[in-house]
Amino acid sequence: MASVREKFEYIRAQLTQLGLFDGDSLVMLGPVGERAVLDADGNETSPEPFSGVSAPLAVLTAGRYARAYAAAGSALHAPTDDMAQMFGPRVRLTERASGGAPAFLIRDRGFLVTARFDSELIAACILMEKLCMAGVLAPKLGGLRPLGGPLCSLEHLFYLKKYSRGARQAAADPRPPAQTAAAVPDPDLRQAVIEYGRQLVANRLIQATWGNVSVRIDSDRFLITPSGVDYGRIRPEEVVEVRVADGAYAEGLHPSSERKMHQLIYKARPDIRAVIHTHSACCQVFAACRKDLRAEGVLYPCAGYAVSGSAKLAENVAAAMGSHDGCIMANHGFVAGADTLQGALARAMEAEKLARGLLEA
Ligand code: 13P
Ligand code: ZN
Repeated sequence: MASVREKFEYIRAQLTQLGLFDGDSLVMLGPVGERAVLDADGNETSPEPFSGVSAPLAVLTAGRYARAYAAAGSALHAPTDDMAQMFGPRVRLTERASGGAPAFLIRDRGFLVTARFDSELIAACILMEKLCMAGVLAPKLGGLRPLGGPLCSLEHLFYLKKYSRGARQAAADPRPPAQTAAAVPDPDLRQAVIEYGRQLVANRLIQATWGNVSVRIDSDRFLITPSGVDYGRIRPEEVVEVRVADGAYAEGLHPSSERKMHQLIYKARPDIRAVIHTHSACCQVFAACRKDLRAEGVLYPCAGYAVSGSAKLAENVAAAMGSHDGCIMANHGFVAGADTLQGALARAMEAEKLARGLLEA
């Protein structure tokens, strides 16, 4: 078990690297009754800002956009599925945490987020900063298009009960279980899928276990990342082989919840051999405003909204990709196709760069 001090050092290092830690940041560690609150220098300080929090971990901090949004903004109504999943329909703008919500915007300061385990806390901070960025920049694109409240509540429940289960287990057991070298077919392609998943993390195109990666084996089959598994822990045998014709896969495996989206893209586009789905910050601003991403010679249309993992979403995206090599997924993210994994990753990164350029112009 990591000590409070070790945990604090880890959280501070991670958030500093992300530009989400400043001299006024506070970290709360431990369950009610035995919690410690440490200031930015690691000194124990008053737990008062966290008195309304019941979760075992919390941070009060801000990045550049959170500072701006908390000074001038208002409550955030979920404009993306990942916000709905992690925080529910709404994050209030308030003076202090109260009432057990997972996240708050703190007026003139930034945000306070709570979590059940370390990686969830880091993901929550990245997500809040992305949402504040969307809140600040959306007026340039005609404004945010929030999702409906009941849908967000359902998505939040699903996230807590099911989707984040894998990540929670990973947090409880940071070392992968010992492996016998399982003989799996297509080991090199499986390794490539795992490696490109890690690239999504390294290039900040996703947070937590969101996003997914697939590659064609041949005209009939593709390999895809498992659902909700930390990218640093995916084992070759967890990468799932799926049939292009009907989406079939072997019993007992847990392919990405977006497998149908990948399947329908491969079906519609025999020339596409790799597909990458991201939740990158600037593409998500376009997604949150339901806007096409376009520049000279480039068009990534915005595919119609449907709830993540649904057959309808797969159909909407495949229709948009019929004549384009990537698209914005309304209120969700981005998806890129190419003839290689390298090409799909490059396209996802270029789209993010293009979106950033347009938003910061
Ligand atoms: P999976 O972990 O099931 O691939 O889902 C991630 C995601 O981004 C859903 O849209
Ligand atoms: Zn997604």
